[in-house]
Amino acid sequence: MCEHCGCEAGLKRKEITLEKNILEQNEHLASKNRKHFDEKGIVAINLISAPGSGKTSLLEATIAQLRDEIPLAVIEGDPETERDAERIRRQGVPVVQVTTGGACHLDAVQVHRAFHQLEKEKFRLLFIENVGNLLCPSAFNLGEHLRVVLVSVPEGSDKPAKYPAAFYKADVFLITKTDLLPYFDFDLEEAKSLALKINPRLRVIALSAKSGQGLEEWCQLLRDLVFG
Ligand code: MG
Repeated sequence: MCEHCGCEAGLKRKEITLEKNILEQNEHLASKNRKHFDEKGIVAINLISAPGSGKTSLLEATIAQLRDEIPLAVIEGDPETERDAERIRRQGVPVVQVTTGGACHLDAVQVHRAFHQLEKEKFRLLFIENVGNLLCPSAFNLGEHLRVVLVSVPEGSDKPAKYPAAFYKADVFLITKTDLLPYFDFDLEEAKSLALKINPRLRVIALSAKSGQGLEEWCQLLRDLVFG
């Protein structure tokens, strides 16, 4: 409440200042993370999507494809449970599960701590699977080299228009679950053009972790990042 007249504007101002401080602090820690990654020659990828877009399935398929070529590690973010970490562990890849206790995104501090837990592992490529949410994670830089936003076919091709912030700051747009295209009214061209209107720099790849279609293009992008 405003200290002068008791209106709500003062309260709003305080909220905005607090949010600005949190984001500034996060930005500072993200640049520290980035420095750590660079010093160790690690490429970090931040995966952002709504729950159920197939982030973990994509990771499983990517690991199966690349594990003999590139040493990998994963940081899993979820509100609760170790379920996704267990799926990755079954693939024989080092993984740390961060449970946020209900928070809708990972922040740079959580990634920093998780990265330290991987200290003894040797890897070149680090996947950070963010908490399933298409809004909050886009505000938090984790120090990643590449930000990837995923939308799956059942979610609908209008998602880029509804959640522009997630696309505005991303480098890659993955359209996932393309094996389901025959069963949904998903317009690939519409999804691409809406996303590119927000961010013309985006690299767009349509793929299916299940059928393997488009997966090679994604894996080649990762090889180029690590060895390029
Ligand atoms: Mg997951």
